Amino acid sequence: MARGVTIDHVTFGYGGAPVLEDISLEVERGQFFAFLGPSGSGKTTLLRLIAGFGTPTAGRILIGDRDVTRLPPWSRNVGLVFQSYALWPHMSVRKNVAFGLERRKLSRAEIERKVADALALVGLSAFADRRPAQLSGGQQQRVALARTIVIEPAVLLLDEPLSNLDARLRVEMRVELRQLQRKLGITAIYVTHDQEDANAIADSIAVLDQGRIQQIGSPIELYDRPANRFVATFLGTANLIEGTIEPGGRFVAGGLALPTVGNEPGRACISIRPQDISVGPNEDGISARIAEREFLGNITRYHTRAGTQSIVVDVPHRRGMKAHDVGETIGLIITPSQVSVLR
Ligand code: ADP
Repeated sequence: MARGVTIDHVTFGYGGAPVLEDISLEVERGQFFAFLGPSGSGKTTLLRLIAGFGTPTAGRILIGDRDVTRLPPWSRNVGLVFQSYALWPHMSVRKNVAFGLERRKLSRAEIERKVADALALVGLSAFADRRPAQLSGGQQQRVALARTIVIEPAVLLLDEPLSNLDARLRVEMRVELRQLQRKLGITAIYVTHDQEDANAIADSIAVLDQGRIQQIGSPIELYDRPANRFVATFLGTANLIEGTIEPGGRFVAGGLALPTVGNEPGRACISIRPQDISVGPNEDGISARIAEREFLGNITRYHTRAGTQSIVVDVPHRRGMKAHDVGETIGLIITPSQVSVLR
């Protein structure tokens, strides 16, 4: 696969305090990649280093095969889109989009053609003569996108671009953004703290916490095979159970036993998703008492106690289905293949 962006053992800090520690990752050309993590995990700092705002204290950054570590932002051929659209309020949409081209040596006709193409791509051809204040938030964000793609960057860097939009528009824009990226075949990196945004939009995600990469993988890999507790709980709900893997692979924890979970004996923490547990009659599986029940429409969520363990179980709901009651004892059936052993 052709290289889009390579981060090679990058370390960075503001005045001594480390913010990014030994980050390495590879974004393939044409891939939609996401940096996902809680606020303060270093996502924006990493994106800014790729854009050229700041230089790593150690390590290298490559765009394609070119080492850009020490190049200024304007020599890197990247396009940056922010949460605040940063449009010029006194200029028309057309002028805003043309701005980046006018500083390059292009003919007037060429600029007009490129601006018209970019506005058509984001569906704003009819709004070219408006001012930003005369547009909705979603339209302003599209202008910001058009202004960035018109300069034909090798990499599109998106810093929480949808977080100023309301929930419904955000979901619509997410789909549009993905379609636009595919159409252009451009490499894109998207920074977000929202796991749903990252899952919906990205081919591959790097999960960050406290300036370190916790795991890199496709959304499904991260969800189904989390490497550690942070990833298991940050991407959705997980039952984490501390216990011991016995020689032979059996996992035991406070009166609960599961067959052949792992092959390395010793202390271990396992993770299992609420919907990966099936519910049977009391005599089947692990005996658990229902402590709480939440009906959430598509699922019923049971908070249960099995021995000393609290276990959350989600049961898909269909019309006419009868729910179990609080206080009832049920059997939890856990299949070893649905269990992840965490580091
Ligand atoms: P994220 O994008 O994941 O929310 P940031 O990359 O913005 O995280 O910040 C990572 C860490 O770096 C935070 O602890 C933040 O306080 C610190 N930081 C960010 N910008 C600066 C700055 N200009 N000067 C000093 N510290 C900063």
